[in-house]
Formats: sequence, structure tokens, C-alpha cells
Amino acid sequence: MCGIVGYLGPRKASEVLLQGLKMLEYRGYDSSGIGYIFRNQIKVYKKQGKIINLEGILPEPQAAHCGLAHTRWATHGKVTDANAHPHLSQSGRVAVVHNGIIDNYVTLKEELIKHGYQFQSETDSEVIPHLIELALTQNPQFSPEEAVRWALNRLVGTYGIVAVFADYPDLMIGAKNGSPLVIGQGKDEIFLASDPAAFIGMTREAAFLEDREMVIVRKNEWVTKTMQNEVVPRSAEELSWTAEAASMGDFPHYFIKEIHEQPEALRRAFGHGGRFLPDFGTTKLGGLNLESRDLLDIKRVVFIAMGSALYASQVGAYLLESVARIPASAEDASEFRYRNPIVDKDTLYFAVSQSGETADTIQAIQEIQQRGARVLGIVNAVGSTIARLCKGGVYIHAGPEISVTSSKAFLGQIGIMALLTLLLGRMRILSLARGKELLKNLEDLPCKIDAVLTQASQIHQLARKYLSHTNFLFMGRGIQYPIALEGALKLKEISYRHAEGFSSGGLKHGPLALVGPETPSVFLLTEGDSFEKVLSNIQEVKAREGQIITITNSNDPRVAAISDDVILVPHTEELLAPFLTLIPLQMFAYYTAVELGVDVDRPRNLAKSVTTE
Ligand code: GLU
Repeated sequence: MCGIVGYLGPRKASEVLLQGLKMLEYRGYDSSGIGYIFRNQIKVYKKQGKIINLEGILPEPQAAHCGLAHTRWATHGKVTDANAHPHLSQSGRVAVVHNGIIDNYVTLKEELIKHGYQFQSETDSEVIPHLIELALTQNPQFSPEEAVRWALNRLVGTYGIVAVFADYPDLMIGAKNGSPLVIGQGKDEIFLASDPAAFIGMTREAAFLEDREMVIVRKNEWVTKTMQNEVVPRSAEELSWTAEAASMGDFPHYFIKEIHEQPEALRRAFGHGGRFLPDFGTTKLGGLNLESRDLLDIKRVVFIAMGSALYASQVGAYLLESVARIPASAEDASEFRYRNPIVDKDTLYFAVSQSGETADTIQAIQEIQQRGARVLGIVNAVGSTIARLCKGGVYIHAGPEISVTSSKAFLGQIGIMALLTLLLGRMRILSLARGKELLKNLEDLPCKIDAVLTQASQIHQLARKYLSHTNFLFMGRGIQYPIALEGALKLKEISYRHAEGFSSGGLKHGPLALVGPETPSVFLLTEGDSFEKVLSNIQEVKAREGQIITITNSNDPRVAAISDDVILVPHTEELLAPFLTLIPLQMFAYYTAVELGVDVDRPRNLAKSVTTE
């Protein structure tokens, strides 16, 4: 959600900044802007809508070597050109881009107005450049760094910022509190960004800022400091992902590329076998930073997450309870945090997030930590806020997920949860033989996912067949229930079709009223304990003339007889079937969106990582 890029180096800043903005587009935004220092002035160009609108008003690249850029996702003030960032101070000598929310901006704004400052926008962010300027005017001895520090110490809220100064063309200052900021160290050039994707094509050397830290960037050098002006020694480290991994390759959209990357993503989650201990029928997850004894003491596991990660967590909780026999649940982080939760020391909490920047999840972690319990992360983005906030955890290693709607990260998350289940299960009730069997079944999954992916054209046909329908129901039982929720979420996110997920058992308790010829039902029906139950739910829908699409691993002739359409996925044990039933649902959403002409990777109103509450 929202993006920041800053640049100081020999290239033409506007070109580099524009390129960086395009790499951040995937995160979702409603306007964008660029500012750079040229001939002792800060030139600012900003425009609502897509980056292409901004490109339309940018002049030919000028010999400007220091600048800043922003993609805005409005929180305070409408989506207008004036509200887009960068924002200038009254004199136009200071420019700032800001991600986050300044909670006390009304008070600060009133104070600044009393000092004669006039506001050009309705944003909370605009107080920042004015405050910096106020500091410089009232304290002529202040350096820009001191003025920024003074201003930041007056702010209450969250921010990632970059500031530049017309009078200091070789200086750029960044700071962070609750919103990410990363330093990219290139050869003779330095980048600041909210996400390394902005500069990954130019350098892979990066250092992450911690909360309430500043970075002062001068030509070819940077230093990180606390808000109390103490230097924090930090050096850049090489990021593991490459520019190629963040490009679309031969695919028309990131979403379908990432769907096809899932077999490899799962192998990576399994550490290419390195996280397996086949002889012991268990797994090893070194990043947990816990002794076996600690793991044995755990009485309960709680996953905290939002969106797709929450549904993945529901799968994880199901696995842990039914296989490892540990009480487990999945919690909506935004609800958990505010309901005065009972947090106990024998519970192991996991924060689950692709980006590692999900604001609601971060706040839930802080609440848990503040109450003295342990939270570990299940995160994709290495070095992200959640990864650093938790004292341990497991990286998914799915590689960059660019599409706003999640696919391989979800799969990676449930992959890690399966590993965790084995690890904790083997310490408790799982026999060696059962552990080995589960490991073998996990190992076979990537190839089976490959087999599902070969059905792309069949699923495309299906999407075409149901294109005129505007409402869909998704249903499953047991471990397939969260997959039904995820399938419905995919469809609504990228095709804007109305889709709802239910437990099949809940059908008679309300959703059945929605069933009729105009509302197709997608059923997840896998062999195992609930097979007959789900089959009879399908009967109930059929009896009310509902059309049925069944995703199944069963060759039972009754399935084909009762369904209008069947997608067959390979067989695996019941508890691992979500890894396979998930894939056709992702593809169905994708092809529906493509046929409807939706901007698949950038669905309206959504952002990749939800960094504000
Ligand atoms: N709160 C600021 C605004 O509404 C920044 C939003 C963002 O993070 O993009 O302009």
C-alpha cells in the first residue's frame, strides 16, 4: 500500500524515480508524484490516477540527481492532484513524501496556521514539510537533519518519509516509524524506498531501517541514527531475490505467473528438502529459535493474520489440531488486538503475513509481546517489519509476490504450517511411520500441483461458461472450508463478482436461500470423512436447480452425475488436499477476471500490503 522512492546519485533522478514507482505499482495506489532538485529549486509533478498520467506531465529528464517520489493510497483527503505527494513547505525549499498516518495532524496544522503557514492539500502529511521549515526558521543554527529530527519528534502516528532540501542538493533524509523504509546501496548511488522492489533492478544491497530511526544520505554515504541522535551501526546486505524474479517473464500478468510458480514456491518453503528430516519422519525449522523443550511445553498455538493469510492460518490450525493434537486457532488480527485478548505464556503465537508489513498484524504482535508472550513470524518478505519484530520464525521463501491477490504466498504459508504440524506432532502423538508417510505425501505435492496447472485451458473454458453469472457460492467442509473462503476471496478481489464462502454444513442455516439457477455453487469435495456429507449438500443445491462446479479428487461416478462441471485434481491424503483444490479456484478467478477485462494485478481499491489500519 502506497510507496516511496528516493534517489541520490549520478543518474537523472526523474528517470530512476519513475522506474522505481513502476516497480511499486503492484502495491496499489490512487495517485503519484515526483519531485527533484533542479537549479536550486524543487520541481514537483503530481497527478491522480495511474503513473502513466504522471508520465504525461513530466518534462524531459533534467540534470537533477536528487529526488523523491510517491504512490499515494489516500487516507486523509480526497484523491486529487493537490493531495498527491510530494508536499512542499511554504517556501518550497523542503519537499516530503510520506506513507502512513499522522494522528495529531489537526493540532499541528492549527499550530502551523497560527505561524502563518498555508496548506495546499487536505492531507495529514503536509504538516511534515511545514514543521521542518518551522524548525529551520525558528532555529537558524539547525542543520536539515536537526530540523527533521525536531519535526519527527512532534509527530504522533506512523510514517515512512523521505525529505529533500532545495538548498542541499546532495542530501536526502529518510525516517521510519511503523511504515517500512529500506536503503538501497548502489555503486555511486543510494536509494531509499518503502520496498526493495523499487530498486532491485539497480542494486540488491540493502539495509532496513528500524522504527524511530532516521537515515541521513549524502553522496555515496549514509548513516542511520536514532531519534535521539545516536548513530546505529548498520551495513547493507545482499537481498536474496533478483530483478528477474520480480518481472513478468512470458506471462501476461503477475497473478498467473505466480500461480504457475507454486510448485517451485512449495519446494522452496520445504527448503528443497532441507527442512525435512526423513529418518526421523519430522522437520526442522531452525528459525524458530526454540529448544525442543520449549516446543514440548506449548499447550496451544494461535495464528494471527488478515485476508488470505487468515484463511491459510485456518488451514494451519486445522492441521495442528487434527494431526499434532495441539489446540490451535486462527485469529483476525484487527479483531484480536482490540478485544482485550487473553494472552498466556504457554501459547505460541504466529503472525502470518506475506509482506511482513500488515499493520493490523503488527499491532496484534505488539499487544501480545507487551503482555509477555512469544510471537513468531511466518513471513515471505525477508527483513520486513514483522520478521524483525518477532524474535524468530520461518520464512516462506516464495520469492517476490507482486500480484495484489495472493497465490504462492498462501500456498507457502500452508506449506510451512504443515512442516510445523509435523514437527510438533512428532514430539507428541505422531508415530515415526505416520511422520514418514506425511513427509512423503508433502514431498509429492509440487508434482501434483504441476498436474493441476496443466488444466488451465479447461478452467479457462469454465470461466467463460459462467461469465454472465454475478453471484457465486463456494463451499467446503473441514479443512476445505477455509479453501472455500479463499476461493471466494480470489474471485471477488480480481473479478469483482460477488462470491461468498460457507461451510457446506452451514448451507441449510441460511445460504440455501441464495441458491437458484442464477447462482452457481463451487463445491470442494475430497475423499475422506466428510465425502458423503458434502455429496448430500450438493444434492440439496441440485434439488433447488443450482448449477454445480465440483473440485474433487474422487472418481466416484455420483460426482460427475450430479455436477454440471467437474475439475479433477490428483489424489492425496485428506488433510493435504487443500494444496491441490486451491489451484483451480485461483485459476477460475484469474480467467474470469481476464475475460471481464479487469486489471488483474491491480484490482480497484486494493493494495498489496495493507500498511495502514
Ligand atoms: N496519510 C497520507 C495521505 O493520505 C499518506 C497516505 C499513504 O500512505 O499513501 O496522503
